[in-house]
Amino acid sequence: MEGALVTLLGIAQDGGVPQAGCTKPCCMNEFGGPTRNRNPVALGITTSEGSRHLVEASRTLSSQLIIWSSSDGKPIDKVDSVWLSHAHLGHTDGLGQFGHEAWGAKGITLHASKSMIDVISNSPLLSPLFSNDHLIPEIFETGEKVDLSESIQITPIKVPHRDENSDTHAFIIQSNHKRLLFLPDHDSWQETLNFHSQEDPLSWFKSMFVDIVLLDGTFWSSDELGGNAKKIGHPPVEETLELIGRRKPNDPRVIFFHFNHTNPLHLESSAETAKVRAMGWEVARQPMTFTI
Ligand SMILES: [Zn+2]
Ligand SMILES: [Zn+2]
Ligand SMILES: [Zn+2]
Repeated sequence: MEGALVTLLGIAQDGGVPQAGCTKPCCMNEFGGPTRNRNPVALGITTSEGSRHLVEASRTLSSQLIIWSSSDGKPIDKVDSVWLSHAHLGHTDGLGQFGHEAWGAKGITLHASKSMIDVISNSPLLSPLFSNDHLIPEIFETGEKVDLSESIQITPIKVPHRDENSDTHAFIIQSNHKRLLFLPDHDSWQETLNFHSQEDPLSWFKSMFVDIVLLDGTFWSSDELGGNAKKIGHPPVEETLELIGRRKPNDPRVIFFHFNHTNPLHLESSAETAKVRAMGWEVARQPMTFTI
């Protein structure tokens, strides 16, 4: 088989579920235990040649490797490369797992933008990952395709997002047959569409010829977090649904993910989950796999 198996290893926003400090029913049940467990977002890519590539380094790395190995059928004691979208918590807080206190991995290529690599190089906690050769930095450029194998490539696509520490990229992962867009974080449709000179989300997806879109669904509505969701950014799913309407023939699959702990899309039985599905779109579950 040519191509790759892509496994979705987590569906939560950076804080995960349960989120530290949350005692509400979204995270804590009546007995004081967790209501549900959801890892922060990450992808495991296994190419047909058998190489393995991880997108995002979350602190739940160990359980994510177990999810990944059960989907591709082999235990995982080696990863060939790691890709990072940006410097926010849930996307990078597992980097230390590769170091000598934990895995003690050797020579894994770390693909990231220049500003993301600089964050690691300038951090006293993280820079030993480079100086001890656990991770080998490799800077990518936005829009430039990188080969993972003969038939699989990744292209970083820059998107506007609270860029305090680093810039932010989405990734197109493609084979000769299919293209999957991984877009967990961006601030607003207005900024992203302006940046890419596009009129609406579906036109943008079609301009990239993507078949599957894993899309920022952090908040259901801007009223979440007592109205504070607005300040944090991320287009609410309600707004995205208005912009994309019902799914039509030839539209890509759009699968919402990166859910905040407060997001009702975590609940299989919520009216919000039903609404997304009734419009022909999808709600991510952990794990999901895609063959590209
Ligand atoms: Zn995030
Ligand atoms: Zn909660
Ligand atoms: Zn972020």
